[in-house]
Amino acid sequence: MNMLAEGRPTKQEANLIMPEQNAITTHTGNRALMVDEPLIFEIGSSARSGVDLPEAPQVESRLGGLDRKAPIAIPGLSEGETVRHYTRLSRQNYAIDVGLFPLGSCTMKHNPRLNEKMARLEGFADIHPLQPVETVQGALELIHELAEWLKLLTGMPAVAMSPKAGAHGELCGILAIRSALEARGDAREVILVPESAHGTNPATAAFAGYKVEDIPANSDGRVDLKSLKARLGPDVAGVMITNPNTCGLFEPDMKAISDAVHAAGGLVYCDGANFNAIVGRVRPGDLGVDAMHINLHKTFSTPHGGGGPGSGPVVFSEALAPFAPLPIVEKMDDGHFRLVEEETAENHHGSSFGRMVAFHGQMGMFSRALTYMLSHGSDGLKQVSEDAVLNANYILRSLEDILDAPFAKSGPCMHEALFSDKGFSNGLSTLDLAKGMIDEGYHPMTMYFPLVVHGAMLVEPTETESKAAIDQFIGAFRSVAQRAKAGDELLKTAPHFGPRRRLDETQAARKPILVWTEPEEFAQAAE
Ligand SMILES: *Cc1c(COP(=O)(O)O)cnc(C)c1O
Repeated sequence: MNMLAEGRPTKQEANLIMPEQNAITTHTGNRALMVDEPLIFEIGSSARSGVDLPEAPQVESRLGGLDRKAPIAIPGLSEGETVRHYTRLSRQNYAIDVGLFPLGSCTMKHNPRLNEKMARLEGFADIHPLQPVETVQGALELIHELAEWLKLLTGMPAVAMSPKAGAHGELCGILAIRSALEARGDAREVILVPESAHGTNPATAAFAGYKVEDIPANSDGRVDLKSLKARLGPDVAGVMITNPNTCGLFEPDMKAISDAVHAAGGLVYCDGANFNAIVGRVRPGDLGVDAMHINLHKTFSTPHGGGGPGSGPVVFSEALAPFAPLPIVEKMDDGHFRLVEEETAENHHGSSFGRMVAFHGQMGMFSRALTYMLSHGSDGLKQVSEDAVLNANYILRSLEDILDAPFAKSGPCMHEALFSDKGFSNGLSTLDLAKGMIDEGYHPMTMYFPLVVHGAMLVEPTETESKAAIDQFIGAFRSVAQRAKAGDELLKTAPHFGPRRRLDETQAARKPILVWTEPEEFAQAAE
């Protein structure tokens, strides 16, 4: 089975084995449960197959001479080998089911197993988007019910369910803004984006063809209302504001911002990815927002990152509702549901900007999110945001004596605590603390974001962590922060205990070494 390619580094070279522990070597090169897993091409063989099928009968080809001449050259493995390969790989990874995932802005909360049970029901999991609508009434009802919840929680009259992630939702909202402005014969050129915005905001505005202009933050980490007002004018299509913002702070001037933008003829996009901090307590519709995406995969607990696809429904104000994309699920008078796929004057005011996706959206995320909402109820969702904010403030106040916390003096934070690397010595910085956290058994926090804070560290515990889990995390964070302030040389080479040691990130990005070289048999097959 030795098909390991020449170019592949040894385990020592790959830093799999800690140099300081090289005195003990094992026969396999593995270290107990830490197994270096080859690529699937290296363990499989195109000559093998996981299943035995009877010899195919010789039939006359109908492919007009386009038949494959050589084997397909994909690795063959048994089911057991395949399962082990992916399970071993997964064990080198970090997951919310392994421990606290402090990534700020990402809302990595526990995904309740009840969600999974519901999402696996046949009527939701085993249906096809092209099935006749009479056969998927339950699924359409679920989408409709979820849409009603989203409208209720945001105080907005319309919602597009189809966008597939937060950034996709942003594009949906900005396209609706553009359509609304064009419809009134007033196409404008500029979108204003505060300095503290998530990177997807300016990217979305630029992608939609707008010029992007920055609005500075004030010393409290909030949008500077004066500068924003000063820049408004007939060329400004709208603003994109993240609230709570990426410093983990609520924008108390949000209503004043919306009023000023509207008075200048623009529209207000709110990045609602941080809705977890305010769900059940603040309705963006009351703040004058015209469009806002909601990350079901953050606020409403559906898996994300390596765990699955996201979903980014967008709620709309009266002004933008007519321009929302199709399709939409509609409840008819007889209680049945239909999918409005095409625009007619009666069904959709005739001004939808089009479609974001081929079908209606992410069914698996819809079923999980609605399960989460129904199992919490509206009171429970209010407690979600309260607990998320409480947990973040507990972290902020527990660490502000050891770490610089740039906005801690201006009051409580929302759902995430922001620190900086000010005061670290011996050239150590945020990156070194992050790597040190890996040795402590944690996924690092979000680092160097938001950009308004030098060496930023953004920590979001979410409401699903217990006090014991948060205390343990605080203990680890404090200990690594102390080492960073004391200038501990060993932090420069952390992590020491991970499956890999510190990688050269610049080299990895600029000169990646792709270690797999095609084994002979595949190369021949391809010829
Ligand atoms: C996560 C996030 C986004 C992007 O959402 P995706 O689902 O990853 O596309 C946008 N803005 C903020 C503030 C976020 O936290």
